[in-house]
Amino acid sequence: MSETVTEQASSALMNVYNRFPLTLVKGKGSYVWDDEGANYLDFTSGIATCNLGHIPDSVEEAVKEQLEQLWHCSNLYHIPAQKKLAEQLVKYSCLDQVFFCNSGAEANEAAIKLAKKYAKDKGWEDRTEIVTFTQSFHGRTGSTMAATAQEKIHQGFTPLTPGFRYLPYNNIEALKQVHNGKTTAVLLELIQGEGGVNPANIEWLTNLRDLCHEHDILFMVDEIQTGMGRTGELFAYEQFGVDPDVITLAKGLGSGFPVGALLAKKTVAESFQPGTHGSTFGGNPLAMAAGLATIETIMNNSILNEVENKSRWMAEQLATLKQQFSSIEEVKMSGLLIGVQMKEEAAPLVTAFREKGILVLLAGSHVLRILPPLTVSQEELTTFITVFKEILQAKGANQL
Ligand SMILES: *Cc1c(COP(=O)(O)O)cnc(C)c1O
Repeated sequence: MSETVTEQASSALMNVYNRFPLTLVKGKGSYVWDDEGANYLDFTSGIATCNLGHIPDSVEEAVKEQLEQLWHCSNLYHIPAQKKLAEQLVKYSCLDQVFFCNSGAEANEAAIKLAKKYAKDKGWEDRTEIVTFTQSFHGRTGSTMAATAQEKIHQGFTPLTPGFRYLPYNNIEALKQVHNGKTTAVLLELIQGEGGVNPANIEWLTNLRDLCHEHDILFMVDEIQTGMGRTGELFAYEQFGVDPDVITLAKGLGSGFPVGALLAKKTVAESFQPGTHGSTFGGNPLAMAAGLATIETIMNNSILNEVENKSRWMAEQLATLKQQFSSIEEVKMSGLLIGVQMKEEAAPLVTAFREKGILVLLAGSHVLRILPPLTVSQEELTTFITVFKEILQAKGANQL
């Protein structure tokens, strides 16, 4: 792909990212600046991480205050902000207890371990499998890579961690295969982010949830991309009306500070005891200060209501563009997690946007993934739509 540049062979960095030809050095609100002083409207939000925009005042203040108190202490001691953040997450969710870690993959690793331990504690020796779904993305570590049902992510890394079984996402017929006597949990995204912004079909999802209930299978939801207000509710499961037994969080939880979390119902969480799981950095005071200020900012302002309004406006505008331009195949969105499926490869559009001062992402090859900060202004949304229209028009003219 000509759009991205891989690390030079001479670089001191391992060559694991296809990077855009851009060096970012500063951010505030909806904007980032490059090393030449040019600014960009950031509709990637660090991949749904800077949900409150870059360096939100309330989080900056809390982290600065904590910087002068204590940066780190072991989890062998009590950490007040950890307790407070856990209480907030419990208050605003259907889950009862929280374990903190540092990233999404780590949160899913913890969920996978918890599911295994839960089955062992119940005496279900035969239950050794976790069901995940095609096009999912759960992370890059050993187990989370194996949980991710995408062949391209497994390539070169066999033998994979055993114990995962893949079923087709949104396929009602395949639900028959969920319960086979071996399944201890299902793990899924309610809107697949990396996989192309695919929302779960509500009938399929409800059936899956009921099946899990019926057979004592843990219903575990990966909210790493969909959580922290991205869909217009604090958690996407609220939108879909299904109560999970376990959820995992990361990306938006710390406004850019690395924080991950595993949340579970008490009956499940009890399977973790001293000695079964842990983390050196997880729940560190600085990370907790960032997380606490983030959730308080989201819940104590009308941010979630605004996401709904902004989402509705974007849906209308994008529907109009779809009518005008046949190159748009489908608009898939929930809150401000927006996918525009194009008929052709979408990478050239990402370049066109950047040349016009707006950063957007891909999800797969044909889907433009648009993740504005939840705090985006109406004016910034209008700018985006105007530029999108210009790009589609220019593209149409080129094709003639
Ligand atoms: C980003 C992401 C992950 C992995 O998170 P990391 O912090 O990169 O380990 C897992 N699941 C989903 C749904 C994600 O979007």
